[in-house]
Amino acid sequence: MAEQQRPTHFHSLIIEHAPVWVNTLDTEGRITLWNRTAERISGYSREEVVGHKGVWDWLYPDADYRAALMVEVQAIIQEGRSVAGLESVIRTRSGEKRTLSWHSQQFFDIDGALLGASAIGEDITQRKQLEVRAEQQYQLQALVSAISAQFADLEANEVDSAVADALHRLGEFFRVGRAYVVRFRPDLQAMDLVNEWCAPGVTPFLDDMQDIPMEAHGWVTRQIRKRRTVHVPDVNSLPEVAAVEQAEFRRQGIESLLLIPLISDQNAFGFLGFDSVAQRREWSPEQIAALQVVADIIAGTFARKQAELELARQARVDGLTGLANRRELDAVLERECRSRREVRLALLMIDIDHFKPYNDRFGHQRGDECLRRVAEVLRSAAHRPTDLVARYGGEEFVCILPDTSLDGAVAVAEGVRAEVEALKLAHPDNEFYTVTVSLGVCAIAGMGEVEPLEILERADQLLYRAKREGRNRVCAERV
Ligand code: GH3
Ligand code: MG
Ligand code: MG
Repeated sequence: MAEQQRPTHFHSLIIEHAPVWVNTLDTEGRITLWNRTAERISGYSREEVVGHKGVWDWLYPDADYRAALMVEVQAIIQEGRSVAGLESVIRTRSGEKRTLSWHSQQFFDIDGALLGASAIGEDITQRKQLEVRAEQQYQLQALVSAISAQFADLEANEVDSAVADALHRLGEFFRVGRAYVVRFRPDLQAMDLVNEWCAPGVTPFLDDMQDIPMEAHGWVTRQIRKRRTVHVPDVNSLPEVAAVEQAEFRRQGIESLLLIPLISDQNAFGFLGFDSVAQRREWSPEQIAALQVVADIIAGTFARKQAELELARQARVDGLTGLANRRELDAVLERECRSRREVRLALLMIDIDHFKPYNDRFGHQRGDECLRRVAEVLRSAAHRPTDLVARYGGEEFVCILPDTSLDGAVAVAEGVRAEVEALKLAHPDNEFYTVTVSLGVCAIAGMGEVEPLEILERADQLLYRAKREGRNRVCAERV
C-alpha cells in the first residue's frame, strides 16, 4: 500500500503561487486558505478574510445576486457534482467589477464526513469584455447591412423615412439621447438639422436648429469640412478653441458626442451626429468605422437624389433664360385645360421684332443677352405664383396666366411691351431704333373642353396680326 501523501511545504508553495485564485473553506464555511492571486484579484488580504465567512457579503454586496448564486452552487453540490466553469461577477475591495470562472469541490474523509471545500477561480474579465465587444460589433455589422439594404433603390420621397428609421435603430443600438443629420447650406454660411431621432425624455432640437450660422460652431464645422470625424468622449475635455461649442453642449446636457462627416465628391456637406445625454460614452474605432459606412450610405443617397432632382429640373427649364421650356409649357397648359370644369385663363405669345437683323448685326452672343433681358421683363410682369413664363422657341415666349380676364391679360401684355421698349436696347434695323416686342393675347372663360393647341394657335394668329399692324403692339381677343 502506497504511503499516503501528506501536504508538504512544496505543495503549499504551489498553491500559494498558483496564477489562479485558490481558497478553501472549513465545514462551517469559514475561509481557511486565501492564496496570493485571491488577494490580488479581490483586493482583500488573507488577514482580513481567514477565519471569517463575511467575505462573500463583501464580494457580492447585492443580496439577491448573492442568494441566487448560493442556490445555484448548492444545487450543483446536492447533485453530487463539482462546480466547473460557473461564472460570477465580484466586486473587489476598490469597487471594481470582475468576472470569475469557478471550479469548486467538497472533500470528505474515509468515513464520509465533510472535511471542507475548495474554490479555484480564474479571472476572465478581459475575455468576457472581448466577447461582449465581438458580439456587439457583430450586431452592429448586421444593423449596418440592414440599413444598407434599406437604402438600395430608394425613391426620392422615401429617403426621409429611411434616414429617420436608420437614426432610430442606431440611436437605440448605442443607447444615445439623440441621433441626427445636419446639412450645410450650399453657401457654407449656415446649416440645418434635417432629421432627428430622440430617446424618450430627451428634448428634440429639430425646430431650434435651423439656419444656424456655421461660424457659431466654427471649431466643429471646420473639422467636418476637413472631412474629420469628431469624437468627444467627454465634452469637458474639449480644446480651448471649442469653448463656444462646449458651453452649448453643456447647456444641452450633452456629455459625449460623435459627429461623422457626410462626404460626396471629396466634399463634406454635413454630418451624422450622436449625442450621449446625461451619461458619458465612448465609441470604439470599430464602431466608428461601421458608422462611417452608414454616413457614406446616407451621403451617397443624398447626392444621388440631388442629382436626380437637378436632372428633372433641367428637363423642365430653358438653359439660356432659366424660364420654363416648351416641354414644361405643354405640360402646364394641358393640366390647366383638363384639370377643372371651368377653364379660365389668359395666354400671351411674345415675339421679338426684327430679331434676325439684330443677330446679324450684333452677333449671337448679344442676341442671347437680349433674350435674357426680355425674359427678365416677362418674369417680373407675370409674377403670380400660378403664372408660368416659358421660352416657346428661339425668340418667342409664352405666358400662361390662370384665372385672368382678357382685360387683365392685356394690361400685363401692355406692361411687357412698354418695359421692353424702356430697356432702350439699341436696334438700328427696327423702325423704333430700339428692341421691341409684339404680343398676341387671348383669354378663355367657359365650360367644356378646350384644346391647348387651339389656344396656342389663336395666340399665334393674334401675334402675327400685331406684326402686320406695325409691331411693338398688343393684339387681343376673347376666344
Ligand atoms: P419679326 O419682327 O417678324 O419677328 O422678325 P424676326 O427677324 O424676329 O423674325 P423671326 O421671328 O422669324 O426671327 C427669328 C430669329 O431669331 C432667327 C434667329 O436669328 C433668332 N433666334 C432664334 N433663336 C435664337 C437664339 O436662341 N439665340 C439668338 N441669339 N437668336 C435666335
Ligand atoms: Mg419668331
Ligand atoms: Mg421675331
